[in-house]
Amino acid sequence: MSALGERGPIVVVGAGPAGALMALYLARQGCDVTVYEARADIRRFDIPAGRSINLALATRGIVPLVDVGVIDQVDAITIPMRGRMIHAEDSTKPLLQPYGTHPHEVIHSVSRRDLNAILLDAAEATGRVKIEFESSVRAIDLEADTLVIDGPGNTVRALPFGTVFGADGAGSDLRRAIVAANGGMAEVSRLDHGYKELQIPPAGGGFRLDPHALHIWPRREFMLIALANPEGDFTATFFAPNTGHTSFASLSNPEAVSVFFKQEFPDFVAMVPDLVEQFFENPAGRLATMRCRGWSVHDKAVLLGDAAHAIVPFHGQGMNLAMESARALDRHLRAHPNDIAAAFAAFEAERKPNADAIADMALDNYVEMRAGVVDPGYVIRRELALELQRRHPERLSPRYNMVMFSTMPYAEAAARAARQAEILVELTAGRASPAGVDMDRAAQLVAELDPLPGLDPLARHEALSV
Ligand SMILES: Cc1cc2nc3c(=O)[nH]c(=O)nc-3n(C[C@H](O)[C@H](O)[C@H](O)COP(=O)(O)OP(=O)(O)OC[C@H]3O[C@@H](n4cnc5c(N)ncnc54)[C@H](O)[C@@H]3O)c2cc1C
Repeated sequence: MSALGERGPIVVVGAGPAGALMALYLARQGCDVTVYEARADIRRFDIPAGRSINLALATRGIVPLVDVGVIDQVDAITIPMRGRMIHAEDSTKPLLQPYGTHPHEVIHSVSRRDLNAILLDAAEATGRVKIEFESSVRAIDLEADTLVIDGPGNTVRALPFGTVFGADGAGSDLRRAIVAANGGMAEVSRLDHGYKELQIPPAGGGFRLDPHALHIWPRREFMLIALANPEGDFTATFFAPNTGHTSFASLSNPEAVSVFFKQEFPDFVAMVPDLVEQFFENPAGRLATMRCRGWSVHDKAVLLGDAAHAIVPFHGQGMNLAMESARALDRHLRAHPNDIAAAFAAFEAERKPNADAIADMALDNYVEMRAGVVDPGYVIRRELALELQRRHPERLSPRYNMVMFSTMPYAEAAARAARQAEILVELTAGRASPAGVDMDRAAQLVAELDPLPGLDPLARHEALSV
């Protein structure tokens, strides 16, 4: 049994959102921490074009930011989004589908780099965190307790460690070593769809679309989405199959891209004059779900963030999940101050079922975004769910809202959503609108649901400018 720092140096590998936040949490527990980050300092260099420029921040990510005291700085750089703005094929006017009925039910567009920079600054400001950039952990020896680090100028160092926090992302090298040492397993399921980011430039200093909505162009097999940036531009992401009739493989030359976008997204083409150039300049990204069992080795090493649980981006939850996990790990370490190994085991026992639940819900949400939002049955059930939430806020909340605007365990949100779906299907059967639904029967069915848990006291949504 050992306490933090007792075994030797505390190391965090990776300075993304999970690693930077974990280093900050560890410093707040009084630990001195060294962070090794393979890339250059993002506060000094631009992220290459086409690499997920902005993200949706929601309650599970907001709570840790409140916890570590950086929410006001984050507030200043976010753009609230009240709902999905649907750009349907057959409509010239986009339609807003609000996310919820409560004022706090908004998500926030935030620059990945600026949010990460706030966390890095806050970690360094503790005086306990040293971050070494351009320092890639090449190997970990979990018997000799050493790390091999490739540093700037082709330097290679072997350094001793006491405890390592592996936050080195979805392609984690540490994960390979950790699961090999503990007999666990990591399973990657690649999605046969990929993505490409495209920028919508500002219009004479203003936004070309409503910035307070997440824009979706749902086209069933593929889709386009766009989130606003404070500079007046939007980052759009095109998601499509990798191969097949309409796919990244078929969009292989400028003419095919130009014809396809003009036909499917004419309003988008009108806003992006250099669409074809961007399409061929920006890299195509691949998407996968990574489920892992065996996140730690005794009191020596633990995985967190995408290194432990990587999900597809369709629920906008990967980073929110990663930050919620960092907070959970901090809590378990505080609960087991003299037994790090027990803290790591309790952390995985709590978070693994929840990571698996959101992995499944994120996959489901792709179908909902590209096809469901324009499916009449879905639209009726969603409207009824919001109406029932308005009438019975203590018992019913739509699945999207439980995931995005609450801190209830993801697995509980999934189980509640399955029960709610049965109720919504029964109440809307054979109906073209929620207008004629038997609200007495609805009240009876909703009364059978368990009361919803309260929000985390740190979920001060009102702190963010809505
Ligand atoms: C297209 C797209 C859109 C997304 N949208 C959202 C969204 O809207 N909302 C949301 O919550 N999530 C979103 N995500 C998910 C989110 O990006 C990730 O879940 C999040 O970045 C995970 O944070 P992390 O710190 O665990 O990993 P990462 O952000 O991947 O950080 C890992 C860090 O480790 C470093 N590293 C890797 N290997 C080594 C090594 N050997 N040595 C040293 N350093 C190393 C890397 O350079 C990197 O800086 C999206 C993802 C994609 C792909």
